[in-house]
Amino acid sequence: MLTFAKTSEGGTPLFTLTGALDEHAAPILAALQGEIAAAKAAVIDLGGVTAMNSAGTVAWVSFMERAARTPLELRRCPALFMDYANVIPGIAGEAEVFSAKLPVACDSCGTCWDVLVEIPAFLAALPHPPLPPCRCGAKATAQVEPDEFVAFVRF
Ligand SMILES: [Zn+2]
Repeated sequence: MLTFAKTSEGGTPLFTLTGALDEHAAPILAALQGEIAAAKAAVIDLGGVTAMNSAGTVAWVSFMERAARTPLELRRCPALFMDYANVIPGIAGEAEVFSAKLPVACDSCGTCWDVLVEIPAFLAALPHPPLPPCRCGAKATAQVEPDEFVAFVRF
């Protein structure tokens, strides 16, 4: 189940979403939209979103359309969210995607994890943005082509 917590960052409301973006998300997103409508701008942290399905994406796109009057920044977007955003333009809408979690894997030991990337710097470093090494010291490789990962941001 989706929940959100509201904090503040330098006077801008910061909403942290946790849980699944699914068929139960619509009432939570309606409540979030009510909060956002009262703000000049808002930040939404999606780092705690663990799952998304088609009903959840429909509810999310509707939320983004209703929230479009407020400038939004999206942070820590999960890889799944980025996948959906690349095929459904309304997923990110007019929002600024500030950071996202890029799935990577170690070339040596096979460990998989997510690297939090800041999108402006990531875009500037394409086609080969630097990635931190694995804990074992070996090089990590992105599991999504970097330019495909952010394709919807670029065009
Ligand atoms: Zn490794």
